[in-house]
Amino acid sequence: MGEMHWLDKSGVPHDFFPELRGNVLLSQKGAETLFAGAPKTLDQVFAAAKASKPQGFTLSVTARIHTVAAQSVIQSANIVAELKGSDPVLRDQYVVYTAHVDHLGICPAVEGDNVCHGAMDNASGTSSLLEIAHAYASLPKPPRRSVLFVFVTGEEMGLLGSDYFAHFPSVPLKSIVANVNIDGAPGLYYPMKDVIALGAEHSTMGDDVTAAARQIGYELSPDPMPEEVMFIRSDQYSFVLQGVPAVDVTDGIKATDPKVNGLEVIKKWLTTRYHTPLDNMDQPMDFDSAAKGAVMNFLVGYEVAEHSSVPAWNKGDFFGTTFGPRHGGNATGE
Ligand SMILES: [Zn+2]
Repeated sequence: MGEMHWLDKSGVPHDFFPELRGNVLLSQKGAETLFAGAPKTLDQVFAAAKASKPQGFTLSVTARIHTVAAQSVIQSANIVAELKGSDPVLRDQYVVYTAHVDHLGICPAVEGDNVCHGAMDNASGTSSLLEIAHAYASLPKPPRRSVLFVFVTGEEMGLLGSDYFAHFPSVPLKSIVANVNIDGAPGLYYPMKDVIALGAEHSTMGDDVTAAARQIGYELSPDPMPEEVMFIRSDQYSFVLQGVPAVDVTDGIKATDPKVNGLEVIKKWLTTRYHTPLDNMDQPMDFDSAAKGAVMNFLVGYEVAEHSSVPAWNKGDFFGTTFGPRHGGNATGE
């Protein structure tokens, strides 16, 4: 299985480390074999790693690694649309919406189907973003700030399209004040009482999310699966890395139907359909509920585009402190 990187202007792969001369991925079984006769068992090694205990010892086997690499260049475009803001000053600042257009292509077959269709992940997000753009373009008056609608490529290959855009944006990086990312249109599973805004706790975008949720009647719930570290796993993180505050509004866990256990439905989807051919158009999807979720995403960006002040990282926030200085706009954290 290969990996992909975007190429910089001199043709060098970004985020590639030639110092790493060999690199091996092992299955559980393969790893157990490698650790047979070692001072610690594989289980002990994992337990120590979980406890953040550094470890290093000699294995009872040696290996020679011989790497043969073949490279090819492929092209895939990001698609960017711009709506000029209505305020003569604030129109030079941009709210950037993103949704990834790629998925996995051909993948291991399930029930005779070897195409990973990506209906929810992320045809739902891109179609939702297209409708959000349509709604913005239909406003009698555009919002004060300008809005970019960016359909990014290569998310599944490591956030490549968004990372490229964040390195070489079509407008100056410091004029990008926020990112609203859609990876899976929220609401498709069931009508929801709540939504979860990944990243809202890190910046003043939390206020915009709160205002948007209030207008539409959603409660805000905390991330129910923090162990999945979703905030750093989709395109919003490419912007965070360049110091731009971001949110990704995702499905709530409180279904309006008390008989539906939302978290159970989502966890079941993740283990049975996520990144498989079963993420297709035959699965149950509630489009009315997702339309309401799209309004939520519209309103989050609209709040940011209208606000007099620019989103800022919360004081002392990890992401703001670490990456804010890269941005050079107002969102510099501490
Ligand atoms: Zn996705």
